Amino acid sequence: NRRIVLARRPKGEVADEDLRLESVDMKPLDDGEILIKVLWLSLDPYMRPRMNDLKSYMDPIAIDAVIVGESVGQVVESRSGKYAVGDYVTSYSGWQEYYVAPETEAMMYKVDPRGLPLSVFLGAAGMPARTAYLGLTRVGKPEAGETVVVSAASGAVGSVVGQIAKTLGCRVVGIAGGEKKCSYVTGELGFDACVDYKAGNLDADLAAACPAGIDVYFENVGGAVTRAVAPLLNKGSRVPVCGYISAYNEQDITAVETPFHILGALPEPPEHRFFVVTEWQDEHEEVTRQLVDWVKDGKIKYSESVADGLDNAVDAFRGMLQGKNFGKQLVKIAEQ
Ligand code: NDP
Repeated sequence: NRRIVLARRPKGEVADEDLRLESVDMKPLDDGEILIKVLWLSLDPYMRPRMNDLKSYMDPIAIDAVIVGESVGQVVESRSGKYAVGDYVTSYSGWQEYYVAPETEAMMYKVDPRGLPLSVFLGAAGMPARTAYLGLTRVGKPEAGETVVVSAASGAVGSVVGQIAKTLGCRVVGIAGGEKKCSYVTGELGFDACVDYKAGNLDADLAAACPAGIDVYFENVGGAVTRAVAPLLNKGSRVPVCGYISAYNEQDITAVETPFHILGALPEPPEHRFFVVTEWQDEHEEVTRQLVDWVKDGKIKYSESVADGLDNAVDAFRGMLQGKNFGKQLVKIAEQ
């Protein structure tokens, strides 16, 4: 089994020496266990803070431990009555080619592909999309006619936030890096406008795109983007703070200015509740089914960036934190 482990804690951007690709023998299965062959691995921004020695809502990754991550794979051996050989599952297998899991594993789910590619269950019908849907509707609570702004708008979460907000009758404005991402967001995804935060005129461009102010800001990035959003927030606005990727390569993420500092300092702070996707874990199946329907109907469109094999995972991960990905970042681990 080939796997990638944490060799030492990164200082700033992940260096090649921080992670180690190694081969280990697999142990035979015990009763109640299954062997999963990983097919697709999801790369997600949260993995970077987890490499730091900092306790947040989850424990840090231990030195020499496999890097955390969700994947979709196929059961190739089973000593469980619950999972049969051939079943597809999503699980937190980590960055490796095979994974032995007990049938009672938390956050492991059978996948019913319903004609969709399996990779979709890590993106447009997976964790990022559930985050988008639940964060937007339960925390953002947009109403028809309101202006919804979302950052990292072409990405896995942001693209779904905007498309759902459109179906709810909102005016939707994306913020993304570069002309290519912005024209995808307005052209393909159907947002009303998209502001290129790298074009050098963020404050004025955002104000021009939001003539009636901002009612919901779905926060994915933090930093300068949040500072540009803050003065445009209307009274009674809501800001689901989903993440703030601009700070993830910081060595001490507790020492940087967070969206909470920026929003909390406003004369009339918006509702800016932090939310984590685990909050609605009991709705996993129902929400996934809904997202699959929307993807099948074409109501949710998506794009993917695919790295080939574990050998290319580290580069792809670094690239995602630099905005090189276009849509959901995946690693193809094996053929189906
Ligand atoms: P994306 O697919 O959006 O990829 C990351 C994107 O972030 C990059 O492509 C880049 O887009 C943008 N970015 C990177 N650095 C910066 C920067 N310094 N300033 C502005 N934008 C930047 O990732 P996801 O959709 O998976 O994740 C988006 C956010 O959602 C992250 O903050 C993540 O942590 C959070 N999240 C939170 C969850 C929760 O449960 N709370 C669950 C899942 C995700 P661009 O080129 O446009 O800059």
